[in-house]
Amino acid sequence: MKTMRMSIPSWFPHKQIGKVVRYLGGNETTRIVGGTVRDILLDREGVDVDLATSLAPTEVQRLLAARSIKTIPTGIEHGTISAIYQPGQICEITTLRKDIDCYGRWASIEFTDRWDEDAARRDFTINAMFMDLDGNIYDYYDGLNDISRNVVRFVGNPVRRIEEDALRILRYFRMLANMGLECIDQPSMGAAITLAGNIATLSRERVRQEMCKLLVAPHACKVLQIMLDGGVGSYIGMTDIRPTDIADIQFGLDYLANLAATMLTTAAPEAAVEVISANWRLSNKEIKVLTQLCDRTSAKKYPLQHLHQPVNIHKRQIFASGLSFYLHYIKLLATSEKIPLAKIEELEKMAVSYQPVALPINGHDLIAVGIAKEGIGRALKVAKKIWMAHDFCISKQDLMRIILDKILD
Ligand code: ATP
Ligand code: MG
Repeated sequence: MKTMRMSIPSWFPHKQIGKVVRYLGGNETTRIVGGTVRDILLDREGVDVDLATSLAPTEVQRLLAARSIKTIPTGIEHGTISAIYQPGQICEITTLRKDIDCYGRWASIEFTDRWDEDAARRDFTINAMFMDLDGNIYDYYDGLNDISRNVVRFVGNPVRRIEEDALRILRYFRMLANMGLECIDQPSMGAAITLAGNIATLSRERVRQEMCKLLVAPHACKVLQIMLDGGVGSYIGMTDIRPTDIADIQFGLDYLANLAATMLTTAAPEAAVEVISANWRLSNKEIKVLTQLCDRTSAKKYPLQHLHQPVNIHKRQIFASGLSFYLHYIKLLATSEKIPLAKIEELEKMAVSYQPVALPINGHDLIAVGIAKEGIGRALKVAKKIWMAHDFCISKQDLMRIILDKILD
């Protein structure tokens, strides 16, 4: 085992997690683990905090309850307890375990008090390290070396580890999309590609979860190309995507926009959306946004065609499609241009604070000037277009006059 001492970054909730660790026996019994250690070593702000402990799950529950820390038995049969260490903040505490019968996602397990055994059941060397509250790293599989070279490498034999759990294939590509492709561990890559068919055994939700995270990682485009080149596409609902066609997409931080940009490289984006929606079991809300983003015919009707258009055009877009769609749409437009993140953030800020001025006329006004009931829907559509084209500052009378001119035309 290798060790090293790290200073703990300021984003890490050291004080609060420190308390939890102390309540659970301190550094000798409870340590930070997995992705959290990886993110600290990479100096990337992590999202969740994972702890490993040699205490039994029931003991974790008892000790935290004694300190009034609420726990949730998230996956107690596999050793995981979630603790609400401050309002709205949860950390997962998993008892050290070894996998006995490893096949399938939920292996049959046995608890252990050995850190090395717990490291052995973890997926990648960079995810198999522990760190105590003083910043000491405990590295059993040369993860420190792999982190310094940006290598994603399976703990143990890649083929066996994938045969145990096919989710590791997608986790492999996701980690790669985060770490970059400078230095590839060939046995790991070879196994992930060769055994891609095993993805079919996974639930669609798991595919979706990993793929959505992959799509927003810094090296998403290159990794997706490798996956498609290697024939993984048919197992993730991307059979019709050609790797060369996605080469120029500037993947950003909105997975739906990235996905839409990918679908738009195909000859029939609507059909591609249908396939991906079923394969990833997207929610109705996600499907609606994706469909709208990929709808080339209605896109033509959108006032905003590229991000450098003046702000009044952006405001017309917000009026036409609503704020929520606009926020996805600008990210889609950003996938085809090299746009600095600051520019996107500036547009987001503008959009969120912008209150479109409501159309100053309604159906009653139109009836009052003699438009038949059946024609009201159409007249209101015309009204909206005129209102938008005048950037929402035209008098009610002028607006009405133009509507009547148009309708009587
Ligand atoms: P993220 O940044 O998305 O949270 P993560 O690596 O922390 O990435 P988690 O799902 O939070 O991912 O898992 C925590 C840890 O549990 C991992 O770092 C890894 O050590 C282990 N782990 C998760 N999934 C698997 C798996 N399928 N096989 C083996 N170990 C796994
Ligand atoms: Mg995690």
